[in-house]
Formats: sequence, structure tokens, C-alpha cells
Amino acid sequence: MLIMGAGRKFPSKRGRVLEVERVPRVFGEPIRTCVGCRRREPQSALIRVVYQNLDRGSVAVVDYNRALPGRGAWLHPNHRCVMRAIKKRALNHAFRIRQPLETEDLMARYAADMSEKTR
Ligand SMILES: [Zn+2]
Repeated sequence: MLIMGAGRKFPSKRGRVLEVERVPRVFGEPIRTCVGCRRREPQSALIRVVYQNLDRGSVAVVDYNRALPGRGAWLHPNHRCVMRAIKKRALNHAFRIRQPLETEDLMARYAADMSEKTR
């Protein structure tokens, strides 16, 4: 069986409880829940999304390197999960924000990701 992510170190911030330490692990990886379909997956199967406050408002962006600060949401890299998450405002819940969230970039990114990753 392939061991993925074993021994990987996660950055920690002072005074902050790391979520990765509270969830069970499969293949040595933290498990995340896709906010679109609510299925649980090792985090490498999901893409992290964060929101950023830009001049034009709150924008959901894909955090490819999983390095951006702030609350993240996890999604399967497919358009359906993204659309579901947007429809039920799951991203707003995950980010704990009430203001409208711009997701056009996110949708465009995911459409692109799909064509790259579907072989
Ligand atoms: Zn999903």
C-alpha cells in the first residue's frame, strides 16, 4: 500500500490549534471533507480554497500550494462539487463570512483544472 504524505511537516502558528492534528489519518494524511459533496478524502485528493478580500470584494481563490493564510475550504477538483458548494453557500459557511463571495475565478479555475487533470 502506498504511503502518501507520511512524515510530512505542517507549519504551525503560535496559539492556533492545527486542524490536521485532530482528524484521523489515512495513508498518513489528514482527512478533509469536500464542502461540495461532504465526502471525506485524504487532503491530497482535494483542493484547498481560501478567500481574499480584494478591492472588488471577497473572492474565493484556489490555494494550490496550501500555503495561503486564513480559513480554508476543501473541494474535489471537479466542477460539480464547486457548483454544489456555491449553490448551498458552503464556502461562505466554511469561511465564516456573510458577505457575498465572488466565485467566478474559482469556477474558471476548476473548469481549467478539469481539462488538465482529466486524461
Ligand atoms: Zn466533492
